[in-house]
Amino acid sequence: MTRPDPDFAADLAALEAAARAAVAYRTAMPSAERWPVKAYDALLADFRTPTPETGADPAALIEELAAKSEPGLRGATGSRFFGWVIGASHPAGVAADWLASAWGQNSANVTAAPAACAVEQVACEWLLDLLDLPRESSIGLVTGATVANFVCLAAARSAVLAKVGWDVERDGLFGAPEVHVVLGEDAHSTLYSALKYLGLGAGRVKKVATDDQGRMIPAAFAETLRTLKGPIIAIAQAGQINTGAFDPMAEIAPLAKAAGAWLHVDGAFGLWARACPSRAHLGEGYELADSWGTDGHKWLQTPYDCGFAIVRDAEAHRRAMAISASYLPPAEGEARDPSQYVMELSRRGRGFATWAVIKALGRTGIAEMVERHCRFAADLAQRLAREPGVRIVNDVVLNQIIIRFGEGEGSDAETLAVIDRVQEDARCFMGGGVWRGQWVMRVSVCGGPTGPADLDPVAEAVIDAWRAVRG
Ligand SMILES: *Cc1c(COP(=O)(O)O)cnc(C)c1O
Repeated sequence: MTRPDPDFAADLAALEAAARAAVAYRTAMPSAERWPVKAYDALLADFRTPTPETGADPAALIEELAAKSEPGLRGATGSRFFGWVIGASHPAGVAADWLASAWGQNSANVTAAPAACAVEQVACEWLLDLLDLPRESSIGLVTGATVANFVCLAAARSAVLAKVGWDVERDGLFGAPEVHVVLGEDAHSTLYSALKYLGLGAGRVKKVATDDQGRMIPAAFAETLRTLKGPIIAIAQAGQINTGAFDPMAEIAPLAKAAGAWLHVDGAFGLWARACPSRAHLGEGYELADSWGTDGHKWLQTPYDCGFAIVRDAEAHRRAMAISASYLPPAEGEARDPSQYVMELSRRGRGFATWAVIKALGRTGIAEMVERHCRFAADLAQRLAREPGVRIVNDVVLNQIIIRFGEGEGSDAETLAVIDRVQEDARCFMGGGVWRGQWVMRVSVCGGPTGPADLDPVAEAVIDAWRAVRG
């Protein structure tokens, strides 16, 4: 079926222009940033024109968009990008994501988008299998771990209050029994955002002392629980953002159960250790929790944005999130309406890309990738530690390394100078952060293509930078 409208053909040419630009970009950009990334102010000047008064040719504007954007793109899809914790957007996922847009499906419910809902349902079944989490759990496909944690904690709030006879969905939090929230000192900052949105308060949490790797100390966790009466939500962590450390779940989970707490896990990237037999011991016992927030766009390599809110008690999950209206037909029988498990009604079909990436990698491909990244981190840490004045601060158990530069304890000034130098030199990308009051270089090995071939050039880039700073 063709349309005679010449404008329509011109509109479609935009899709091909985008595909050409994407393929050219990925072909030319196999490792990291090859050039210093153009500064924001300069990019702003490139883009800033008066508001368009008349329309433009779609293919031409896509080419313009690519030409103006590419100098300002971070090399996040390459093999030498170690900033923050960022996946590399697997091409299969990107392609599936294009189709999700091209098909224009509003993936709220089965009636509006049957294929999107079916593929999402299957992707959810695969996720539970790969992460080996309770198969009865429900999953909401959301924008990332921040929102995944929010959704899970909304289910937690609903369940712990329902247990004491309070309907938070109907009656809100005014006059409700107090809900205690317990988490580790080194919990991720986005959990505080989630607690803030939920009316649980970012400032009234009970913080549990952690050890030198950022793991909750079980005795301190037990002590905190002992002081609390009434509904409790406890939050554990799989993969600390700096050290990659895991809370000791074998001890934490039974304590949480005994206190009647809902146990949530922030496992944005670390939960994926469970999909890798050689690292699964780190995530042992995490299946005992009640809910789990994790990301697609970190270790799984789905394109941005994608996260998974996983809740064992599907009823609590739905109660917290469900939307009903007369014009929204409910799914029949076993069918699952995605919007019942997330905050949004109208939404992107994230199941397409999730399905595609899981299919492209397979169970063995995911396990191999996680192991390759962890091995790379261990090897790089070992290599750098041999250089005088370089100190690896954490136990490298997963994909995270934090590094100090300088004699003895190292210094903030030298560490920051090395980070600047590495970024300017642009052979690889690493960022910084503060750990225990001191600046460290942060290395997150999380991009799909990173492997042994990158080890020498990356180690050299860091050592060269440090030698230049040391003088
Ligand atoms: C990245 C991260 C988050 C936030 O995830 P987003 O995908 O950025 O929303 C939360 N917790 C941990 C441990 C993380 O690493």
